[in-house]
Amino acid sequence: MSDAHVAIIGAGPAGLIAAEILSAAGKRVVVYERMPSVARKFLMAGRGGLNLTHSEEFERFLTRYRDSASRLRPILEGFTHGDLVAWANGLGAETFVGSSGRVFPAAMKASPLLRAWLTRLAKQGVEIRTRVNWLGWEEDGALRFNENGKQASVRTDATLFALGGASWPRLGADGSWRDPFEARGVEVALFQPANVGYTVAWSDHFRSRFAGQALKNIAIRHLARTSLGEAMITAYGIEGGAIYALTSELRAAAPTGIRIDLRPDLRPQHVIEKLTKAKPGDTLSSTLRKSLNLPPVAVALLYENGPPPRDPEQLTNLIKAIPITLNAPHGIDRAISSAGGVTWNAVDENLQLRVIPDAYVAGEMLDWEAPTGGYLLQACFATGVHAARAILRR
Ligand SMILES: Cc1cc2nc3c(=O)[nH]c(=O)nc-3n(C[C@H](O)[C@H](O)[C@H](O)COP(=O)(O)OP(=O)(O)OC[C@H]3O[C@@H](n4cnc5c(N)ncnc54)[C@H](O)[C@@H]3O)c2cc1C
Repeated sequence: MSDAHVAIIGAGPAGLIAAEILSAAGKRVVVYERMPSVARKFLMAGRGGLNLTHSEEFERFLTRYRDSASRLRPILEGFTHGDLVAWANGLGAETFVGSSGRVFPAAMKASPLLRAWLTRLAKQGVEIRTRVNWLGWEEDGALRFNENGKQASVRTDATLFALGGASWPRLGADGSWRDPFEARGVEVALFQPANVGYTVAWSDHFRSRFAGQALKNIAIRHLARTSLGEAMITAYGIEGGAIYALTSELRAAAPTGIRIDLRPDLRPQHVIEKLTKAKPGDTLSSTLRKSLNLPPVAVALLYENGPPPRDPEQLTNLIKAIPITLNAPHGIDRAISSAGGVTWNAVDENLQLRVIPDAYVAGEMLDWEAPTGGYLLQACFATGVHAARAILRR
């Protein structure tokens, strides 16, 4: 295989959006994908409702990327959440903003959007080759692939690597690109699970009765940080948006304690008043359900460390700060995303690798992380767009 084209390796959202931009500008683009079909993680993301992006104001949006915010700023300015929504609308996927500000396609799934996208890419002449596994580089710098059991060398004008992170490896991205990258002197930060659940030693009763139930509208405190939202009780522990929002600090501290506030919307005094007004004959559980509107899973959580205190003030302290010990993060194979990857030092402002000429990187394989809420896909799309535009400017 040898002719002038831009090679994009990895057919996830970062690679495919780059293919769209480059082909629209007249470039010959070949996308190489190791799996039998494209964008498996994108499709999986659509299973629970495809959260494409978030509608919040840009400066607040940017803070979600924490340490990577300054490097991502120009990239996200170049392809904003409004641009992503307009792009989805252009493919016939009307979007709506959910109550939390998250943006979803009306169909909630990724498949209709992906179908329309692939049709557009085919019309623009993008060639997508599946079952082609990138292995590394030949000594002369050509790309080395395995295609149906045969080794092949490919020379390109430019290459965009969009190989993904290391979570959910059965969907295609397994971080195995790390070895060839490091062998060429590219700095790669250790992969770690992000947006992942934690193990908690629940009592047998709590686990068997409440696994699969959500604690809604809660606050989780860890040291000085608080996250609001929802958490899901699982057989092994706890997961969900309110946990994921604290992902990097929980990971660094585990095992560690968190505090759950079951009624963050009420001040302690207000909770005490509600508890004191309860009917005299009511049991504690029914008082908690009736006066504070707590669902059975929340009431049971108050009993996890023994019977809760009866004194309204002490009970309020517990309702607003139930201590839970998080033992360890679940494995990277079940994490929604991964932290780590090609470091910001290893790329220039065009996302071009400093040590490998004409090679660019986009998507989750770069070393940034963000909570769920649409921030992951937004940064994958934006980095894909950014690298593609840089390739066009060459
Ligand atoms: C269960 C789940 C739900 C999610 N939900 C959401 C959500 O609602 N909103 C959100 O913003 N994000 C969500 N995400 C995260 C989001 O899907 C990913 O961040 C995003 O898909 C990453 O895009 P990418 O293009 O960088 O990499 P990927 O989508 O991982 O694509 C990389 C591609 O590269 C291919 N590849 C890897 N190595 C090679 C190789 N050596 N040779 C050839 N091909 C290779 C892989 O097979 C893969 O197709 C979810 C993730 C999961 C697992």
